[in-house]
Amino acid sequence: MRIVSGIQPTGDLHLGNLLGAILRWVAMQDEPGERFFFLADLHAITVDSDPDQLRANVREMTAALLASGIDPEKSVLFAHSDVPAHPELAWLLSCTARMGWLNRMTQFKAKSGKHKEKASVGLFTYPVLQAADVMLYGATHVPVGEDQKQHIELARDIADSFNHRTSEEVFVAPAPYIPKGRAARIMSLRDASNKMSKSDPSDMSRINLTDDDDTVRTKIKKARTDPEPLPDTLDGLEGREEARNLVGIMAAIKGRSEEDVLAEFAGQGFGQFKPALGDALVEMLAPIRQRLEEYRANPDKLDAVLDAGAEKARAAAQPRLDHAYKAIGLRR
Ligand code: ATP
Ligand code: MG
Repeated sequence: MRIVSGIQPTGDLHLGNLLGAILRWVAMQDEPGERFFFLADLHAITVDSDPDQLRANVREMTAALLASGIDPEKSVLFAHSDVPAHPELAWLLSCTARMGWLNRMTQFKAKSGKHKEKASVGLFTYPVLQAADVMLYGATHVPVGEDQKQHIELARDIADSFNHRTSEEVFVAPAPYIPKGRAARIMSLRDASNKMSKSDPSDMSRINLTDDDDTVRTKIKKARTDPEPLPDTLDGLEGREEARNLVGIMAAIKGRSEEDVLAEFAGQGFGQFKPALGDALVEMLAPIRQRLEEYRANPDKLDAVLDAGAEKARAAAQPRLDHAYKAIGLRR
């Protein structure tokens, strides 16, 4: 098993990132195989970004990943701008991917909003860079949240078509590896028709790793819900998406099933459920936040981790990039 996955340094790590991706990366570190985790800073610039803010975000996200349990001895942790093979391969792949395939990507539609012609070209072709990110290392499994499934399926199509075009097995088709249950898609606390996101303008929509205990509890208290008590079966949550999201979060952080959570809280209203959820979240997040503060105080150490990771990643990426150049008929 070769695991590759990334996260954009576009803001603070939130509960969706943790449950959908990061904590699974951490859990996979003790399995056999190789792991590459990267800060997708080349993706972060597809939308307007401030240079100083981006530099700060890369360090902050590195600290957050280490605090969450990513161990640079067990996994290669790096910033993908430190490995030129990523954008190089993205160019080769963008000459294989078809416009029609990219036109179907729902994330571009969501992120570009009403003014598609004002979106950067990079935002449109971002899934091709993402395909390069994972294919360079021969990823077999890409642990991501549900929102990235379509992009990884696109990467499979790109891998197959590149191999077909060159008549060589240059790339492995990567498979999305998505958590079971609600952890795969944690929704916004303000509107359960949108996923929780770093880029949501409302800070009340998400629980950030950097939120202090009181803020975590307040955000849960203010989360949108309905006045009905919790039902005793999952069917009773039908059409109650906000309620479903909170039950799903409780289940995911406690490692229990949603049915099990309902069995405990059936008949109780959110006045009782929300404080219990707030406590459970504080219990999970406070120790990670404490470690985050320690890492943050040591920027040299963070840079050293990224430098060492970049060196390993460059060495791992180069052979497959060279193979791709040769296979398609370029000088190498
Ligand atoms: P942005 O809004 O900048 O795109 P994001 O919150 O979507 O930020 P990403 O860096 O794009 O975060 O994604 C990092 C990982 O977290 C990906 O594997 C993604 O699938 C996962 N993820 C993001 N949001 C959620 C969510 N709400 N629930 C579960 N997983 C999520
Ligand atoms: Mg995203």
